[in-house]
Amino acid sequence: PAAPGGAQSRKLPVTGVGAIIAVASGKGGVGKSTTAVNLALGLSANGLKVGLLDADIYGPSVPRMTGITGKPASPDGKTMDPKENFGLKVMSIGFLIDEETPMIWRGPMVQSALSQMLRDVNWGTLDVLVVDMPPGTGDAQLTMAQQVPLAGAVIVSTPQDIALLDARKGLNMFRKVDVPVLGIIENMSYFCCPNCGHRSDIFGHGGARAEAERLGCDFLGEIPLDIAIRETSDTGHPIVVSAPDGAHAEAYRAIAARV
Ligand code: ADP
Repeated sequence: PAAPGGAQSRKLPVTGVGAIIAVASGKGGVGKSTTAVNLALGLSANGLKVGLLDADIYGPSVPRMTGITGKPASPDGKTMDPKENFGLKVMSIGFLIDEETPMIWRGPMVQSALSQMLRDVNWGTLDVLVVDMPPGTGDAQLTMAQQVPLAGAVIVSTPQDIALLDARKGLNMFRKVDVPVLGIIENMSYFCCPNCGHRSDIFGHGGARAEAERLGCDFLGEIPLDIAIRETSDTGHPIVVSAPDGAHAEAYRAIAARV
């Protein structure tokens, strides 16, 4: 079906930017941002030039997770240079406001902020731009899906039924606006006790794989619940760069190769 409002015509390409990939989730707290950051770093480790756009206007967590602080430079007073760390070019609304300030914005302001962060940024030449989408299927998501020429969307879900139900809604939203769904990643797939190595399926396990099959899209891989993943992203040294030889980094790189 066509996107509402003739949206296809507004999908202008972003100069210099190859594929734009959205990382989305049906609801918050499932690890969408953690996945977006590590996926971007996985793509970069696989040899691509990668940018990361934090479109989670109301809860930007990319600055903290990438360890980037300070405002972006604007040499010409019109466009902004992205910030850089770990070889990623990064833009986030979080660079422009302080961390404690809530974003009390209505739809049109969100829309214009997103558009500026996408188009008024000197991305240079990128193979891939990873977009950390806002959670859910509201206004901001629809705007992004409609205005940005997305090559595809990756859906992050925990194995729980409720998260999967929300993930299904997210997936259907992209399909409605003709954005290909590249696949589902199961985050917090299982828990390995750091002391005894025992594995527990806290939120159940394998739900996302089954759901991907049912929905006819790819299952991209699973990431366990591990304190090291949280600690490294909280301190701005995501696991893909802080433990590049570990199993988690390998899993993210493998997912990046499938996207
Ligand atoms: P979302 O973007 O979906 O709201 P976040 O990526 O901000 O979720 O993750 C929410 C919290 O869960 C963060 O503190 C993050 O560090 C943690 N987290 C995410 N994925 C994992 C994981 N696989 N293992 C451990 N902690 C995780």
